[in-house]
This record gives sequence, C-alpha cells and structure tokens, in this order.
Amino acid sequence: MYLDIQRIKAEITMEHILGHYGIGIQLRDVGTNRLSGCCPIHHGDNPNAFHVDLKRNLFHCFTHCGGGSIFDFVMKIEQMDFYSAARKIWETFYPSSSSAPASPASRRFKFNSNFTHGADTPFLLQHLYLTDNLFRRPGVPILKLQITHPYLEKRNISPSLAMSFHMGYCKHGIMKDRIAIPIIDAERHIVAYAGRAVHDNQSPRYLFPKNFKKSQYLFNIQNITPKSNKPVFLVEGFFACIHIVKAGLDAIALMGTTVSPHQLSLMKEARKFYNVMLDGDEAGRKATPIIENKLNLFQIPFRTVNLMDGKQPDQLENDYLKAIENEYREK
Ligand SMILES: [Zn+2]
Repeated sequence: MYLDIQRIKAEITMEHILGHYGIGIQLRDVGTNRLSGCCPIHHGDNPNAFHVDLKRNLFHCFTHCGGGSIFDFVMKIEQMDFYSAARKIWETFYPSSSSAPASPASRRFKFNSNFTHGADTPFLLQHLYLTDNLFRRPGVPILKLQITHPYLEKRNISPSLAMSFHMGYCKHGIMKDRIAIPIIDAERHIVAYAGRAVHDNQSPRYLFPKNFKKSQYLFNIQNITPKSNKPVFLVEGFFACIHIVKAGLDAIALMGTTVSPHQLSLMKEARKFYNVMLDGDEAGRKATPIIENKLNLFQIPFRTVNLMDGKQPDQLENDYLKAIENEYREK
C-alpha cells in the first residue's frame, strides 16, 4: 500500500488529528497556540492534564501518558504500533490514495455541526478548521477568531455562515480589530488572511499580508462544486461572494476589479460557465469590458450581468440571484 510519511509530516497537524477525533472542541484555549483539557487518552478527569502545542504539533499528558507528535498521539489513543498509526492517518486524510496520492481537494467537505456558538463560546478556535480538512501554508499564522461581531451582523453574516467560511473577528495580532477572512486555494490550503476593517476610520479597508499576491488566487475557488454544470458567479469582493454562496449558488471573487492571467487559467481549469457580475459603480463599469475581453481571449464561457447604479451583489435578493442562474440553465 502507498504511504507517504513525509507528506503526513509536512501536512497533517495536531489540529487535524484532534479534529478527526472530535477532541479539539473539548479543549480550552490557554494561551497562544496552546490548548488544555482532560486527557483523551487515559480519560482522566484532571482538566489540566493534557496539553497541546498547535504550533509545534506536540501534545503532552502530565498524568501518565507522556507526549509526542501526531504519530505518538494516534499510537497511544488507538494502541497501535507506529506503522499502523501512520497508515491510519494516511487512510483518514488521503482516503482515495491507497495506491497514489490524491489531491486534498477530493476530500469531502465536512462541517462539525456539534459545535454550538452561543454567547459563551464565541471563539472559533483554529482546530475547527480540522473538520473541514484544511491545511495551512507555511508562515500563515494561527488566528483565534470570534464568530460573532456587530460588523458581521451588519453584513448579514450569521455565526454559522462565518464558521463555514472560517472567518471571524480578530482581537489581537496582525489582524487586530479586523474581520479575518482566510483565502484558500483549490487544494484547500489557507494561503493568507485578508483583514476587513470594522470601523470607518480604519485604514486600509482591506489588509493583506506583505508580499501577498491577490492575483494568484480566487476567493472561494475551493468550494466550487466539481462536476456540476452550475454556473459560477464572478464578483469583485469577499462579501458579495459570501452573499451569493449563502443563497445556495456557486461564486468566486477576484478580490478587486482586475483579472490576472493566473486567475484566468484557474477559471479555465474549473471548466465552468461564469456570470460576471461586478459592482454597479464606476470602477465596476470600467472593469467589466476589460474582463470580458480577457475571458474571450482565454475562451472561457461567460455572460455579463450589469447591475443598476449603486447596486452591489450583496444587496441582491436570493430570488433575483436564482433567476439569473435559471436563465442560464434554460438555454
Ligand atoms: Zn493521559
């Protein structure tokens, strides 16, 4: 059987393992990238026995289980030898690759519905990413995000919607006092966070990491339904995209008003029909014919939906969006 230990070491984290066993949720946040709780291996009741270091991918049980890496954790919890544990991790996270490595994108989207998001648990801890089988590119920070915030409410983003986009309000760190929105590539790697300002006097409105190239990615590309003939809305911004997804439709965002050759090739690879719908403002109107030209050059099938002056996609009713989709289908 094919088994790539190096790939497991490079990609699978304690977050993934804890998420898989449903343990992450029982642990509490005890400092930067650290979790603590009862030991899931020996099932003791000391709430401080078990510690996890998310950054170094290590765990430790101070009662008597000892600690180690993800392999040690699975060996201990499953009472297996190293090889069996490695095989179990491989089969869990790379299910379709018993003979060859699969694209992580082939893993199913799994949402942890057991998580309650009442006022007492407002934090979206990083380990919840796990339930979605997301990975993090090296250098992407571990952020602690709050899924309830007045700004999210203002943009009609419920806690569960925030959670499904892994976004939330960030109190500290590089995205301090912003809504952090992860940008995820088609292979389900978080490549960066965009930080949306929550106050009018905050500048810039969107903060991206230094050297991050928006032009290399399309927001929400990882959630485009494969093998369906559903058209995909192409919009400018994050919130427009999220709004359309909320209506049950497929959408991606350029994160601006320009489209790069790389973005065009990503769109072409996805083999979709696109409804190009930029904002109903001057920037959107100017950009539309330029984008149309480029789509034509790349022979990407599309049509344009022009919005009325002052309208943005996130102000559109669900029925209106669905009507646009159906119009395409009927052809
Ligand atoms: Zn223990």
